[in-house]
Amino acid sequence: MSPQPTLTLAVTKGRILGEALPLLARAGIVPTEDIAASRKLVFETQRPGVRILVLRGSDVPTYVQFGAADLGVAGKDMLLEHGGGEFYYEPIDLGIARCRLMTAGPIGGAPRSGRLRVATKYVNVARRYYAARGRQVDLVKLYGGMEVAPVIGLADEIVDIVDTGTTLTANRLEARELIADISSRRIVNKGALKTKFALIQPLLDGLRQVVGAAR
Ligand code: AMP
Repeated sequence: MSPQPTLTLAVTKGRILGEALPLLARAGIVPTEDIAASRKLVFETQRPGVRILVLRGSDVPTYVQFGAADLGVAGKDMLLEHGGGEFYYEPIDLGIARCRLMTAGPIGGAPRSGRLRVATKYVNVARRYYAARGRQVDLVKLYGGMEVAPVIGLADEIVDIVDTGTTLTANRLEARELIADISSRRIVNKGALKTKFALIQPLLDGLRQVVGAAR
């Protein structure tokens, strides 16, 4: 007898995982142990053959792109930055972890007309955004704490996630332009959808119902 095929679902750790787990549970996918209480990265679920991988958001699209994970849950910000959309479908907006991807700069600071220096971890998104507006920018890649860059003089502006705006205000910054409204998306590797259709389709249908009912 051939072994039962497994489905691997990569979920972004942190806030997205916290908001995704109740949705997954309502769709019948429940980890067999408490993810928050463990340092493990792979978890079996009560649904035979379905396991959950807990990853950094920027790695979720990469795992799904290469088929190491069949499905993923990641913020739209990570998908825009990754830019590998030809390898996966994005069939469901889970409507969780909503926020905005924005430019921001010092409060009251006049937007500069010349060449801008922009600090961000979203360098691909920022490059496309400013280029589409004909703005010349020098991008500085940072991995966190973007908000301090304009205060310290490393950059004129930042591109970052804004939710309540508290972090910006605390660092004497204000939001300027909206780049994209963000929420978490379910993504599916295109090859896996073909080869594991019978396993994946019920799972997607279940999630669609849960998300539809929550709206
Ligand atoms: P806030 O102070 O509420 O505007 O939150 C902004 C900070 O929280 C940013 O620095 C983000 O890194 C983080 N954050 C808030 N919401 C999200 C989200 N949905 N996804 C990723 N990061 C978020």
